Amino acid sequence: MKQRATNELRNLRTLADFSNLETAEQADYFRHNYREFLPEEFWRPGVLLAGKRGPSDWRYLQSGVRAAWREKFPPDACLSLIVFLAISPEQIEGSESVKVWPYQKAIMTLATEPWRARFCKSCGNRYVADKPGRVFCSDSCAKEARKLSKRISWTKHRDEWRGSKKRQRGRRQAQ
Ligand SMILES: [Zn+2]
Repeated sequence: MKQRATNELRNLRTLADFSNLETAEQADYFRHNYREFLPEEFWRPGVLLAGKRGPSDWRYLQSGVRAAWREKFPPDACLSLIVFLAISPEQIEGSESVKVWPYQKAIMTLATEPWRARFCKSCGNRYVADKPGRVFCSDSCAKEARKLSKRISWTKHRDEWRGSKKRQRGRRQAQ
């Protein structure tokens, strides 16, 4: 059970990483580090997607994932993101089982637990919450936000302090 939860969370985090990719270099790095996440053929240009020679760029699938992230993974979007990876002959293992990719499992998990798909309040990146109370994508973002809120409350109090000084001065002048 614990093992399953860890794998599930790892798949979700990989999906968040995929959704946050910006450059071709990042995509290349991702592709080589998470080889089993998506079918290798998916990364090749001109690949057949859902039986059609569709937009081959990984950004096409990514834009779908990003839209679903914004909309909290509604069932329709999840289904289309899952079936988007066409069933190619290589995916059929044996006579009755079809290979299910970690990418598809991650979408499925977010369909049932959409609260996990969030945007970091500090850096703005998409991330997956391991518990409902999570607000930031990482420890460094949480630390950064703490620092910032300290600075903000200091500035606020400094102004209050200055304000009270001014008021005191004003009172003194009025006397
Ligand atoms: Zn962050």
